[in-house]
Amino acid sequence: MTATVSGHRGLDLEEPLLFELDTPGVSGIDEPEPEPGPTRLGGLEREGPIGLPGLSEPAVVRHYTRLSRRNYSIDAGMYPLGSCTMKYNPRLNERMARLPGFADLHPLQPEKTVQGALAVMAELGRWLCALTGLPAVALSPAAGAQGELCGLRAIRAALRERGELDTRRVVLVAESAHGTNPATAAACGFKVEAVPADARGRMDRAAFRARVGADVAAVMLTNPNTCGLFESDAPELARALHDAGGFVYMDGANLNALVGRVRAVDLGADAMHINLHKTFSTPHGGGGPGAGPTVLSAALAPFAPLPVLWQEEAGWRLIETMDGARARGLSPFGRLSGFHGQFGVFVRALAYLLAMGRDGLRQASGDAVLNANYILAGLSDVLSASYPGPCMHEALFDDRFLKDTGITTLDFAKAMIDEGFHPMTMYFPLVVHGALLIEPTETESRATLDQFIAVMRDLALRARAGDQAAFKAAPRLAPRRRLDETQAARHPVLRWAPPPSSGASSDESSFRTAPLSSNP
Ligand SMILES: *Cc1c(COP(=O)(O)O)cnc(C)c1O
Repeated sequence: MTATVSGHRGLDLEEPLLFELDTPGVSGIDEPEPEPGPTRLGGLEREGPIGLPGLSEPAVVRHYTRLSRRNYSIDAGMYPLGSCTMKYNPRLNERMARLPGFADLHPLQPEKTVQGALAVMAELGRWLCALTGLPAVALSPAAGAQGELCGLRAIRAALRERGELDTRRVVLVAESAHGTNPATAAACGFKVEAVPADARGRMDRAAFRARVGADVAAVMLTNPNTCGLFESDAPELARALHDAGGFVYMDGANLNALVGRVRAVDLGADAMHINLHKTFSTPHGGGGPGAGPTVLSAALAPFAPLPVLWQEEAGWRLIETMDGARARGLSPFGRLSGFHGQFGVFVRALAYLLAMGRDGLRQASGDAVLNANYILAGLSDVLSASYPGPCMHEALFDDRFLKDTGITTLDFAKAMIDEGFHPMTMYFPLVVHGALLIEPTETESRATLDQFIAVMRDLALRARAGDQAAFKAAPRLAPRRRLDETQAARHPVLRWAPPPSSGASSDESSFRTAPLSSNP
């Protein structure tokens, strides 16, 4: 590929920073010079120029529009990230969240003026309780990880009340768990112990039973687990722990595989977070916002965090104080956030639930599992499946199929980009080597899945045929090739500095974009 004079490729324009596009003196607005008058800044006036770039309005619009087209999204194509549930979120739910009666509320409005919004929260909570079989829900956690914190803090409070907090110090965590599980348990002051998986990729029953005892506060079990497998022994494991006085925390991030079919209560869960942004329709690229409502058993419900949504004769209330909660027989462990949670996400989730209905949710989980098994079946003879099927909502492969090719999972993923597919989740879960974790979700059509499978098969065969150089050079067609991700993570340069004026020696720490001809 030859470099172009402009640095552009086809209609894919190179994109400098706004500061690099600076044309001094140019402005999109025309403001009169302020009248001179007395200063009220007490001598703190800026002395030098402010340093904002000069740009016309179209230059700014084009800059951001071009950047937005670089943003790969579920609206542009398949997003097979396992463990993330990147599914299409119906536009209708976005419209509902933007209705002025919802979008323009302020959290400090008097309760009597937001009765409809509180009723939306209560109705969402009712659905979440019905779908999981647990009687109570805390809506305020802002993400799955904070939902875990909510659940474990409630468990801690229950143990304290029983006088067992000093003796039950251990939280058992599945070896394949998402990193947030051990982090949460540790943040709550517990000692984390991993429980290994057996040859079937499920929590090892014997190892678990051997470890259960009077020092165990809880187990954190993901179901289906991060290998995409149903923990079919969950009820038996839960019974063993309950008999020994411990609690079961179920990581519900993978509820998309179970919703409408299996209830958390029937798997023995005492607490479980639900990632609304994974299962119930909220776009979650770019880190949020999400929401992680946490359902709780009757034994844990009194410890749910403030504010507590409460119905009284006069209408819905948010109980905001410890005294208010105690007066109603509750003992919250504290508070997780300033207000009541991510209201816009609640509206999207409820709109989705109402549009889908119980039968639609059941079909969605069925289709999600069917699609993942279609991929597992379509690729098992060329990639190495880590466990025999059937799987649940995601299919897990490892890098044994790349043995002796000199090609890594990372190289393989980069080659997928040239083929127009966002890579799957790589190197997670950690329990298999060089993991490729693929979650198609229920919203991909059979045509898309067939094309994805064809691409993956072709790449696998090319890798096996020894086309190492091509894989190492991928991606060839992306705006940027391979970035130094280690350098970017270890030494992030978050501040732009003007390039040194001529003659000055170059300043190592100042940020400069890559040269325009970075695509050879
Ligand atoms: C996504 C995920 C989490 C964490 O949820 P966040 O909303 O990202 O905080 C926890 N456990 C599992 C299995 C997950 O997939």
